[in-house]
Amino acid sequence: MIGKTVEQLLLENDTNFVIPADNVASLLDIHPLNHALLVLTKTGYSKIPVVTTENEFVGLIGLSSVVNEMFDLTDVDSDNLEGKQVKDVVITDIPTLCEPYNVEDILHLLVNNPFIPVIDEQNHFLGILTRRELIKSVNHLAHELETRYDVTEKDTQKKKSKAKLESL
Ligand code: AMP
Repeated sequence: MIGKTVEQLLLENDTNFVIPADNVASLLDIHPLNHALLVLTKTGYSKIPVVTTENEFVGLIGLSSVVNEMFDLTDVDSDNLEGKQVKDVVITDIPTLCEPYNVEDILHLLVNNPFIPVIDEQNHFLGILTRRELIKSVNHLAHELETRYDVTEKDTQKKKSKAKLESL
């Protein structure tokens, strides 16, 4: 369990925690796959969010899924994307986050995912929470904890042995 003090320090940066939807490269589920190839290649991200025209969150699209659609038996050809849309390859089985944030969930989810989409209760896409932003908060925690609080070791036995060793 994460203690209150640590949780509070980690969330102090929470206004910058989430990259807002307007600053996130995303695709519509109805976009053609060759447009997806262009956006993923130009942004340099291997996965980005997919939304509907009403800004409802659908899932993620990965460059590897698009490239996979370009393969045929003999070659890789972008013509094979013709007539296909983002919704044909979108990955929907992914975790999302809603406010109020649970720090423990965030930490666990970011172990296996480089970013987590943030949605509201109506499934509208609000932005993403990335490992980079979380690491900034951990950095803040590491610098502030002992500056603001008296942190003492609880285990007195350990302290006694340490004191004994130091007196030798
Ligand atoms: P970072 O922790 O900044 O390296 O971001 C982790 C992942 O989040 C990236 O590899 C992208 O898949 C995604 N990501 C980060 N920033 C953006 C953005 N502005 N637009 C779309 N996806 C992003």
